[in-house]
Amino acid sequence: KNVVVTGGTGFVGKKLTQLLLDNGYSVTILSRTAKEYSAGVSYAQWNVEDGTIDEQAILGANYIIHLAGENIGAKRWTRNRKKAILDSREQSTQLLLATLQKYNKQLDAFISASGVGIYGAITDDVLCSETTPAANDFLGTVCQKWESAAQPIRDLGIRTVYIRTGLVLGKGDGVLQQLVPLFKLRLGSAIGSGKQFMPWIHIDDLCRIYLEAVINPEVQGPYNAAINDSTTNSIFSKTLASILGYSIWLPNVPAFLLQIVLGEMAQLVLTGRRVTSNKIEAIGFKFEFTQLNLALKNCLDK
Ligand code: NDP
Repeated sequence: KNVVVTGGTGFVGKKLTQLLLDNGYSVTILSRTAKEYSAGVSYAQWNVEDGTIDEQAILGANYIIHLAGENIGAKRWTRNRKKAILDSREQSTQLLLATLQKYNKQLDAFISASGVGIYGAITDDVLCSETTPAANDFLGTVCQKWESAAQPIRDLGIRTVYIRTGLVLGKGDGVLQQLVPLFKLRLGSAIGSGKQFMPWIHIDDLCRIYLEAVINPEVQGPYNAAINDSTTNSIFSKTLASILGYSIWLPNVPAFLLQIVLGEMAQLVLTGRRVTSNKIEAIGFKFEFTQLNLALKNCLDK
């Protein structure tokens, strides 16, 4: 069966594509740029802003996994940047929907990325489950609109799944790629109060959750994809430093400084919420990496 992976060229998409191929699926990556067929993967093109898409790729799909979207942590959240973050998710979903509608095309499942940011920028320890309402701050709104844009796909009778993802830990990319060089220089420290929660997930487990969502017809609706182990920013920073062979000596980076440097985007690192993973575990999914220490060691080849 064929899986179309939008944003399959990204951090999660590359790993997920390999897992899908290993499990006997053919993969078509929907990307903004043309690429040659390679290693069992075909590429198709789209342009969300122009509303153009390779319709044949969608017509050949049994599943769509929708990962595409402007990177949330890459640049300061100016008005234009915020618009790009939202539009690249909402309008891309609408473009996929319109193509499905145009041809009355059915899928075995439509699986969309989402984020634990849907529950909002929180600093206390409320435990958020999939029934917790979406927040109305920027990320809460983005995630909610992103998921809502897929609602009409569900109305077409297609099984629709949302993977509300925590901070993804993996080799050579993502947040660790930004943090590790600083920590290697022994310049790492906790941020703000250090008490904000950081729900995380190892990339291998995340990809296995996407695979489960493909295979298991019982999987439907939103799922938190993060370890519920009460990791705070302070614990995360200390654990990373200790794996790199030292104890943190610098004071916490003051919140006001980050607010000056990052603007509103500072809430990405200054706030956090606890999430429960009970729903995904209730369908029999078992996380391979449940301890931060071991997950980080794996990512850093230690
Ligand atoms: P990446 O930023 O690594 O990759 C996203 C991909 O989306 C890119 O490779 C790009 O593919 C495509 N893309 C970017 N901008 C646009 C645009 N304007 N229009 C269409 N496509 C675009 O993301 P990740 O792999 O890290 O994450 C995958 C998804 O999971 C994202 O939606 C992200 O928000 C979500 N997520 C990730 C978390 C993490 O910690 N990594 C945490 C929570 C959620 P191309 O250039 O080929 O078009």
